[in-house]
Amino acid sequence: MIIPFNRPYLTGNELINIADAHSRGQLAGDGHFTKLCSAWLEQCTGCNKALLTHSCTAALEMAAILADIKPGDEVIMPSYTFVSTANAFVLRGGVPVFVDIRPDTLNIDENLIEAAITPRTKAIVPVHYAGVACEMDRIMEIASRHNLLVIEDAAQAIMSSYKGRALGSIGHLGCYSFHETKNIISGEGGALLINDPTLVERAEIVREKGTNRNKFFRGQVDKYTWVDIGSSYLPGEITAAFLWAQMQQAEIITSRRLLIWEDYHLAFKKLDEFGRLRRPITPLNCKHNAHMYYLLLNDIADRSKFISAMNQHQINCVFHYVPLHSSSFGSLNGRSLSDLPVTLEMSSRLVRLPLWLAKKGEFHHKISKIATSYLNASSL
Ligand SMILES: *Cc1c(COP(=O)(O)O)cnc(C)c1O
Repeated sequence: MIIPFNRPYLTGNELINIADAHSRGQLAGDGHFTKLCSAWLEQCTGCNKALLTHSCTAALEMAAILADIKPGDEVIMPSYTFVSTANAFVLRGGVPVFVDIRPDTLNIDENLIEAAITPRTKAIVPVHYAGVACEMDRIMEIASRHNLLVIEDAAQAIMSSYKGRALGSIGHLGCYSFHETKNIISGEGGALLINDPTLVERAEIVREKGTNRNKFFRGQVDKYTWVDIGSSYLPGEITAAFLWAQMQQAEIITSRRLLIWEDYHLAFKKLDEFGRLRRPITPLNCKHNAHMYYLLLNDIADRSKFISAMNQHQINCVFHYVPLHSSSFGSLNGRSLSDLPVTLEMSSRLVRLPLWLAKKGEFHHKISKIATSYLNASSL
């Protein structure tokens, strides 16, 4: 039997909620289930306001509008990330300025950020890779000294924390993804967390096609009209109904994922100590959400051999990302401080193992057994 890289987890309550949404007769956005989901996000993260969006990409695009990115404005971010982190700003004419990552967490290296700041810098976008926090105290301190906005790409980071604070709730804005490859899902889906209260009113307008419709519904204005730029960033109620079923099991989903993660971590301990590979490193002040389990092998050839060995056993392991600064579009539209050697190295060594919740059976034991015996047998 083939073990796929990912399989979406279903709680069993998704269709019940969707039938409920259907019978309520309100299927556009911001109905019953959207309200439940946003209230849950506000309660569990402590953010000022949570707005559901149809993807994390959409939340990042809203953040770029709220940050008032104008052509030529610079936005500091890692190159080791998904394209949407950069694209959202490039859409507004912004210039991504790529900074190298830390070798331990693979997150943006906070010590390199200040050298990337110019008079055109508007924002810093830390990406919490694998649900492990960036060094947020330092990043917030740099941002406040230079009067920059911090937008957390917390796509992978729901239920993760830094010094006890939920990721996505620390910067001025935070963006979550509920794509089916993430921990809590609705197929496509996302949320914008607004922590800076001064951005809430405009965020509601931008999300509602540039109108003050929300104020109208609250009775704060007597007609609703076009007041700003915007787009349609809200998901319908069917999506929110699905998502609500997942949110209600967020604790269970996270703890089950953590058990698999811990099993993997233990299984590869000896090989790590022996220097055959490197396992993920989680700083003491970070609580992660077991979004992914990865291994860092010795080099790209070692990784290719590992992936084909696993494929021969019908186990699908994958790698990512092509560093954005090395992509054709990224090198034309962005700027990097250096060759970003850590980014290039890690992106060629990293491999991700399947991590998903099976109905029954513990497929990950089989994976670690096959992987460890291959790695033990293959000489350096
Ligand atoms: C998944 C992901 C996104 C995009 O999320 P969508 O909901 O698919 O738009 C953005 N950034 C990072 C780091 C991601 O992992």
